[in-house]
Amino acid sequence: MICPVCSSNSMPALEINNRQVYLCGSCSTKFIWPQPSEDEIRAIYSKNYYDSWGITGEQGDGSVKAMKTATFERRMDLIEKHIKPGKILDIGCACGYFLETAAKRGFTPYGVELSDYSCKIAKESLGEENIFNGTIENAPFDDKSFDAVAMSDLLEHVTNPNKTLSKVRGLLKDGGVIMIMTPDHGSLTAALMGRRWTHYKEEHLFYFNRRALKYILDKNGFKVLEVRSAEKAMNLKYFKTQFNIYTNALITPLVNLAVRLLPERFLSKNFYLPLGEMAVIAVKK
Ligand SMILES: [Zn+2]
Repeated sequence: MICPVCSSNSMPALEINNRQVYLCGSCSTKFIWPQPSEDEIRAIYSKNYYDSWGITGEQGDGSVKAMKTATFERRMDLIEKHIKPGKILDIGCACGYFLETAAKRGFTPYGVELSDYSCKIAKESLGEENIFNGTIENAPFDDKSFDAVAMSDLLEHVTNPNKTLSKVRGLLKDGGVIMIMTPDHGSLTAALMGRRWTHYKEEHLFYFNRRALKYILDKNGFKVLEVRSAEKAMNLKYFKTQFNIYTNALITPLVNLAVRLLPERFLSKNFYLPLGEMAVIAVKK
């Protein structure tokens, strides 16, 4: 099997839901092949997909937004270490929580979101004209128009990450930065959980480690400035929703037990966890 990132030989590494995951012997990228068809991908991202975010139903009480915003504050800290406020684009902006955080810090927010459902929520808070409902390939943004581009939990979902990064490079001004947050298959949680690693999902088509991420960024015209483990703010209420949709034989029973035993006030309390993701900042070469 040929690696879609670097065209070297890759070997079967594990199976997820009867799909093969390959590991590239050269650049260290892991990838699912064959990729799910367009219909299968559409089915995965149906309305139920957003239920796992916990923004609907019993979770729609603002505690999830506060939790996600706590994570995004940390990602903005990282971006602000390397660039002054300017125009920022969030690809896969979901409900726009990251962009709201960026706007409070003086950035002018723009977003792209494929889901009609979350796009509508983002447009309500950030303005109709700032959010594009569709893919980055079809978005009406001018080349060299952004100071920063953010992609959280996105690169692992795209069908051709080289193409996505090349498009982003074109959108950035000279000296502009990209911030990527994505699962790290070289992380401690990946090592500890093996094939039960929570990030192995059929909608995650690509898996990077630090080396693979550096490789693909370099190949597409970026210089890495900083890579770090990306902690996420979590609370038990959210954990419970997540792990009862994506059930995990190790974690789901533990989370359900904790939710039953602990008093209500602990359930919405945020704590920061390294969940096997990394954040990278890179500058356009
Ligand atoms: Zn490769």
